[in-house]
Amino acid sequence: MKSACCSCEDSMKIWSFNDLMLYNVSMTKVLMIEDEMELVKILRLYLEKAGFSVTHAANGNEGLNKWEAENPDLVLLDLNLPGMDGLDLTRQIRKKSEIPILMITARVEEMDRLIGLELGADDYISKPFSPREVVARVKAVLRRTQGSHPKETNLLTYGELAIDLDAHQVSRAGTVLELTPTEFSLLAALASHPGRVFSRLQLLEQSQGTAYEGYERTIDAHIKNLRAKLETDPHNPECIETVFGIGYRFHRS
Ligand code: CA
Repeated sequence: MKSACCSCEDSMKIWSFNDLMLYNVSMTKVLMIEDEMELVKILRLYLEKAGFSVTHAANGNEGLNKWEAENPDLVLLDLNLPGMDGLDLTRQIRKKSEIPILMITARVEEMDRLIGLELGADDYISKPFSPREVVARVKAVLRRTQGSHPKETNLLTYGELAIDLDAHQVSRAGTVLELTPTEFSLLAALASHPGRVFSRLQLLEQSQGTAYEGYERTIDAHIKNLRAKLETDPHNPECIETVFGIGYRFHRS
C-alpha cells in the first residue's frame, strides 16, 4: 500500500484543460520545501484555496532540483530539513536568483532567523502558525518583491526619487544628485528590493564586488554620505532605514 499522505495529495486535484490554461497564464507558483507531511497537506490546501499553484519537495536536495526545474515564483522554505538544511539551500538559491524566500522556522533562536535574513530570505514565520497567516505572509512577500522588479524600464521611482539603473543616474524632484559609484551601487541594490534587509557584508559585496569580514562598518560611512545627498533630513532618514543589529533596507512605501 502506498503511503496515504503522498498518494492522496497528488491525486486530489484533477486539472481540466481550462484549469491548465489558467495555470500557465496567471497562477503564481509556490515551491514548498517542508518535510512534515501533515503541515504540507494543510498549507497546500490553504494556498491552493487562495489561488496559488503549489509544488512540493520533502528535503533540501529535492527542493533545489525542483526550484531549478519548475521555476516557481516564491519558495516557502522550512529551516529544519533532512539533508541540506534551509540555510544552505538559501545560500545555493541566492547564488543564482532573487526569488522571494519565506522561511519557516521551528527553531526559537533569534540567531537562525537573523542568519536567514542575512543570507537573503525575504521574511520568516515561526512555528506554530495558522495556515491563514502563512497565506497572508506569502501574499505580502510577493507584493513587496514583485513591486520591485520593473526590469523593462530599469528606472526605479519612489516619490520624488528616480534611479536610472542603466544611466547610473539618480535625481530627486528632477535635480540630478552627484553620487560616487559606490554610493550608486549601494542605492541601486537597496532600492531594487524595497523592504528587504541587506546585511553590511552583503552591501559590501554589492558595492565592491568582494567582501572581507571586518570591513562591514565601512558601509556605515557610505550610507551616511548617501543619506546626506538623498534624504530631506539625513538624521531622520526616510529612504534608507537602519535595521538594528543587521544592516539596512530601503523603505517600502
Ligand atoms: Ca522540518
